[in-house]
Amino acid sequence: MAAAHQLNKAGHLVTVFERNDRVGGLLQYGIPTMKLSKEVVQRRVELLKAEGISFKTNVNVGKDISAKDLQEEFDAVLLCMGATWPRDLPITNRQLEGIHFAMAFLETWQKKQMGNTIDVAALHAKDKDVIVIGGGDTGCDCIGTSLRQGAKSITTFEILPKPPPSRGGDNPWPTYPRVFKVDYGHEEVKLKFGRDPREYSTLTKEFLDDGNGKVAGVQTVKVEWTKDPSGRWKMDEVEGSEKVYKADLVLLAMGFLGPERYIINELELEQDPRSNISTPSGKYSTSVDKIFAAGDCRRGQSLVVWAINEGRQAAREVDAYLMQSSTLPLSGGVVQITQKG
Ligand SMILES: Cc1cc2nc3c(=O)[nH]c(=O)nc-3n(C[C@H](O)[C@H](O)[C@H](O)COP(=O)(O)OP(=O)(O)OC[C@H]3O[C@@H](n4cnc5c(N)ncnc54)[C@H](O)[C@@H]3O)c2cc1C
Repeated sequence: MAAAHQLNKAGHLVTVFERNDRVGGLLQYGIPTMKLSKEVVQRRVELLKAEGISFKTNVNVGKDISAKDLQEEFDAVLLCMGATWPRDLPITNRQLEGIHFAMAFLETWQKKQMGNTIDVAALHAKDKDVIVIGGGDTGCDCIGTSLRQGAKSITTFEILPKPPPSRGGDNPWPTYPRVFKVDYGHEEVKLKFGRDPREYSTLTKEFLDDGNGKVAGVQTVKVEWTKDPSGRWKMDEVEGSEKVYKADLVLLAMGFLGPERYIINELELEQDPRSNISTPSGKYSTSVDKIFAAGDCRRGQSLVVWAINEGRQAAREVDAYLMQSSTLPLSGGVVQITQKG
């Protein structure tokens, strides 16, 4: 959307294809309402529409129409398809009912809140014992959402040990501080249930069947992290620390493995070692002519500010590609006219 906004301002005709029923990406269907009001997203979309950008929703590029058709039909194609391929947990009984990816849970609830006719019963936390596997930001949003839906209990597993309260000797400023933090979901659960929902150094071993194909619990074991002689971290299970947690709803929030592959495969785009779409450093052009990439699909799961910044910078590069030069703004600094290439 940020790229479309800039390219439209530069005088190009811009069409945004979106496979979902509403535009906005994770701002619409990932980040929960308590963190970002959807009215803010809708207001922005309406402004972009009024400025002349064409939005085509419910069009899955690579499935409903081919990416190659877009490449032929348009003068430039900018891929901003996110990095939403979820990391799975292929352990015993993964197929049981009641085990879902975090994003399915968050997206379904957003759609329900937006008024879509949608059956949320299977993906609703009311009166359920909820286990969230993965202790990152997505996991925290699942905790906050489960709480609002009226979960009976909420527990979250993190495989890493509990971080120290202040920086360790191997984590000096200005490196990212690996210290214990309390996010909104943790604080809310503590207020309601009297305990922080996080269980650290916890490895999920298997899901337990209730006898009818539904999840009834999760078997875990504690792990210990030590460094081997070469200095590499290794993880060992702690004997006798096995534990069963009751569960009616399990949400998998263990991060993302990069963008989904079907457009990448169709266009034969090069990927970087983390499976994101590869572009030269500081550039947004891909290995294929006319095709550009920006946002999470280029840099991996990140933050909204980065997606906006990438969209704007990519727009400038696309404008220069189309017009031989661009006066669209750079991120900070003195703006210079960009020549093509
Ligand atoms: C649960 C969650 C919470 C987050 N909370 C925050 C937060 O609080 N603050 C923050 O700064 N960041 C947060 N983030 C990260 C932030 O949302 C992303 O970094 C940002 O939205 C990335 O923008 P994007 O445009 O690159 O991709 P996305 O927002 O993922 O948008 C990609 C869009 O492309 C569409 N698409 C994909 N493939 C196709 C296709 N083949 N055809 C048509 N359309 C397609 C998708 O449906 C989607 O709408 C959060 C992320 C998650 C998962």
